[in-house]
Amino acid sequence: MIDKLALYGGKPVRDKYLAYGKQSIYDEDINSVIEVLKGDFLTTGPNVSSFEKCIADYVGTKYAVAFSNGTAALHAACYAAGISEGDEVLVSPMTFAASANCVLYCGGTPVFVDIDPNTYNIDVSKIEERITEKTKAIIPVDFTGQSVDIDKIMEIAEKYNLIVIEDGAHALGSEYKGKKVGNTAHMTEFSFHPVKPITTGEGGVIVTDSQELFEKLTLFRTHGITRDERFLNNNEGPWYYEQIDLGYNYRITDIQCALGLSQMRKLDDFISRRREIVRRYNEAFKKIKGISIPFEEEFSNSGWHIYVIKLKLEELKCSRKEIFEALMAENIGVNVHYIPVYYHPYYKKLGYKKGICPETEKLYERIITLPLFPRMSECDVEDVIKAVTKVISCYKK
Ligand SMILES: *Cc1c(COP(=O)(O)O)cnc(C)c1O
Repeated sequence: MIDKLALYGGKPVRDKYLAYGKQSIYDEDINSVIEVLKGDFLTTGPNVSSFEKCIADYVGTKYAVAFSNGTAALHAACYAAGISEGDEVLVSPMTFAASANCVLYCGGTPVFVDIDPNTYNIDVSKIEERITEKTKAIIPVDFTGQSVDIDKIMEIAEKYNLIVIEDGAHALGSEYKGKKVGNTAHMTEFSFHPVKPITTGEGGVIVTDSQELFEKLTLFRTHGITRDERFLNNNEGPWYYEQIDLGYNYRITDIQCALGLSQMRKLDDFISRRREIVRRYNEAFKKIKGISIPFEEEFSNSGWHIYVIKLKLEELKCSRKEIFEALMAENIGVNVHYIPVYYHPYYKKLGYKKGICPETEKLYERIITLPLFPRMSECDVEDVIKAVTKVISCYKK
């Protein structure tokens, strides 16, 4: 085995820790938040609807409904899709737990479909074999920002009368066949967590073209309460409202939406910078034996939320853990996206077993996420390249 001291004992490539992902906040963002604090509305106010309109216009949908976070948005989408007790929903296991959890919130059963070993997205050719009479919806994830083959998924959905909720948490600004991700599925979710393409601190949105879904999403966001005359059983006067279903308080604040609006003005610049860094990474890493760079489908123009390398373990003398720890020792903020959802003890308790998605499990052993965010300097980028080159060369067979 390698003498670890030789690796760790020398001077690290960087003195200062570099995060794997980070928000990009400018003075203009800060000032727009200050303006709201001086005004009349802190929660639902004019910035919420302006932000929603801005997102809908950008993506090219009729409606957008913003929520307190991306998970709340997905929960609302599951409600609007009518997912309930006894329904099965096809989901990807190579993702953050939120998309499967939302199915559970509604009493449904997540059914994991294995990933395509090239794209790491749900394997479209394996969807039909998991469909049963109970299947109600599909929640595909645009992993790392690369769009799923949404046209093909919609074709299958039409054939079996399923609703498609695209989890585009990574993919605001990404493109599919030249169009923005988000205007094809019945509903698409975007997240505004600080590491995502733009941030509102916490926040999320569902975009849709359907008025019926839009109305359900809005209802669910505010306790199931409505003032809309079309839905009232009675109307006792101007003060009157009714709770007609069980919803939540999933509202986003005006403060957050002012930040979101300001961030949206920079989204395209953020994405150009992410693409530039990825080009540099790809150019450097394709020359290194022992790792694979991300594969991108022809139809995709990814906005690159994260950059995931895959280790070719056959060519290395160690496991992912050793490479991961060595990169940490170099002060490179690495991460693993993701632990397969059904590996978590909670899902094990529900009866999910190892072995159900072999491609996902194989990939999980091999992946490392490297730093990628718009405000990385050229030096930061070169440090990551140096550290990866150094570490891999130490562990090469
Ligand atoms: C970030 C994320 C979400 C939503 O997360 P929130 O933190 O609730 O905004 C959902 N799915 C995926 C794949 C994500 O990465």
